[in-house]
Amino acid sequence: MEYKWIEKDVGALPVKPNLLDYEEVRRSFSWDDVGKNFEGLPSGGLNIAHEAIDRHANGSLKEKLALIWHGKNGERKTYTYEDLKKETNRFANVIKKLGFEKGERIYILSPRVPELYIGVMGILKNRSVMCPLFAQFGPEPILQRMEGGDAKGLLTTEHLYDKKVAGIVDKLPDLKYVLLIDAKEHRDDKILSLPRLMEEASEEFEILPTDPEDMSLLHFTSGTTGKPKGVIHVHKAIYTHWATGYYVLDFHPDDIFWCTADPGWVTGTSYGIIAPWLHGITNVIDEAEFNAQRWFSILQDEKVNVWYTAPTAIRRLMRLDVDPLKDYDLSNLRLIQSVGEPLNPEAVYWGMEKLKLPIHDNWWQTETGGIMIANYISQTIRPGSMGRPLPGIEAAIVEQNDDGTATVITEPGKHGDLALKPGWPSMFRGYLHNEEKYKKSFVDGWYISGDLAYMDKDGYFWFVGRADDIIKTSGHMVGPFEVESALMEHPAVAEVGVIGVPDPVIGQKVKAFVSLKEGYEPTDDLKRELIGFGRKKLGVAVAPKEIEFVDNLPKTRSGKIMRRLLKAQELGLPLGDTSTLEK
Ligand code: ATP
Ligand code: MG
Repeated sequence: MEYKWIEKDVGALPVKPNLLDYEEVRRSFSWDDVGKNFEGLPSGGLNIAHEAIDRHANGSLKEKLALIWHGKNGERKTYTYEDLKKETNRFANVIKKLGFEKGERIYILSPRVPELYIGVMGILKNRSVMCPLFAQFGPEPILQRMEGGDAKGLLTTEHLYDKKVAGIVDKLPDLKYVLLIDAKEHRDDKILSLPRLMEEASEEFEILPTDPEDMSLLHFTSGTTGKPKGVIHVHKAIYTHWATGYYVLDFHPDDIFWCTADPGWVTGTSYGIIAPWLHGITNVIDEAEFNAQRWFSILQDEKVNVWYTAPTAIRRLMRLDVDPLKDYDLSNLRLIQSVGEPLNPEAVYWGMEKLKLPIHDNWWQTETGGIMIANYISQTIRPGSMGRPLPGIEAAIVEQNDDGTATVITEPGKHGDLALKPGWPSMFRGYLHNEEKYKKSFVDGWYISGDLAYMDKDGYFWFVGRADDIIKTSGHMVGPFEVESALMEHPAVAEVGVIGVPDPVIGQKVKAFVSLKEGYEPTDDLKRELIGFGRKKLGVAVAPKEIEFVDNLPKTRSGKIMRRLLKAQELGLPLGDTSTLEK
């Protein structure tokens, strides 16, 4: 289905975009040139924390605000780059003194408080590996990830420790220390008060030589398709973070940026922490959870210029039927980007209508470490498309053959595996303790993403679905995204998840689980209306044959619809790993 394109008037933008001529930037791009934006460690090599904090604190950005923090109870705190340098040095001294070494994994289980962000950079300064956990995980998912990543240390709060960690700590014999962010005193010789240790620690710290290939972060995937995987990243990933900050998020020196993702997910670390600081801009953090009024107030009061969020949040705003420009002054907002799930065209138009800005979709994964395919502020949006590959990234649609080779599909519109040419700087360097799975992700010189997509004749990529979610019905291959997007256009529909249900005649039958907007009743008439609506939009072969109304769809805590759970529930099968299920 074709949706109306959104053409850009570049001359009307408040600042000149960093990327103007896509083709030209692609032609002249080199990763080595990106490297020239970094200083390098005085002791040798490349360290994320030096490039994100220290080099700014040592130079003209010393007094600049690096972090504006909003606490959930209305507090507001700010940190300059110099403040962050001192605090992260202290933190690095604390863990160094405790004997934490290079490569050892230190986990963070914390609400979005400043100590989390200080901890991340302090851990990197000590050349240890930072592994973030989502604070709302229960004990079992925490144990699973800490065991899986050989946790040596944990930064957390008293409340989270007592509630979630105390009961599992016996099962973690390698855990050397727990640092409690808000404990006034040490509890014993292993469970320590961070403030006490920070008080005693020096503000000076020298980062030891760091190889760009040294492991920096361990991130667990969202668990949408199965058991979450531990993904290894290295310090050199900042090349991608810098380049995407520049070309996709269009960072300019005076920008105020807000990424709404939690650092428990890769977006919240790569873009909620690293990318904005690499550019020396001001980063906004909100401790609280989604709330429409609060979010618009932050966008207004902090004069946010660039906003990075997710389809799930945008759909929530759409569902609430808000009209933000009536009540808020969002005139500083220049660019909205979205990631994590397919962005329905309806959401792009909603942005145009309600915020006077389109929402720009971009695609990437925990494994890619940074944005790979994007819509750019200066370029036409084809709603429903993820956009075009980042300069420096070669993406293709490929078909895997039985003999272990892969053929690049050049025919526009033909579905296949979305694949990337390996070698970009933030490419994952392994699945922790699963070398075999890592190797299997590469086929005939391509990294196979596990997502299916197609390319149009102008090189725009269109998401079809995850390989696991594809529906085979009456000889057609149907991607859930297309069906979901069509139903989203109906005024009653707030959210849709589409699956294939086994059917003796047609192989699989398309079934849609629909949650309704406020004010709509889940009646049989509405079901029939939706089935008719789907047929008109999609044709009989692709349209859902069955509709079921649900209050909410099962989602990961990062907001992704878990179609595998819809399927398991429908078929009465075991649910599998539900550690990331939003409860
Ligand atoms: P798991 O690998 O454990 O099943 P996951 O794939 O959801 O979980 P992430 O790495 O957080 O874990 O998510 C990446 C996936 O999210 C992509 O492979 C893709 O399926 C989906 N995704 C991200 N951005 C987009 C987008 N713009 N359009 C469509 N899908 C997207
Ligand atoms: Mg995945």
